[in-house]
Amino acid sequence: MIYFKACPKCRGDIRLQNDGTGDALHCLQCGFERAIAPHLLAKAREMRRVQAA
Ligand SMILES: [Zn+2]
Repeated sequence: MIYFKACPKCRGDIRLQNDGTGDALHCLQCGFERAIAPHLLAKAREMRRVQAA
């Protein structure tokens, strides 16, 4: 899954990936990475919906 323009550093596109230990966000443009908890993932979905509106 990809979150468009969701990177906090460069506003690039962020891909959600699972490295085997948990979900993590990875920016396709700048390489920003962050492990995320399920409740933060829900928040990211909320942000995307707001940005798309
Ligand atoms: Zn980035």
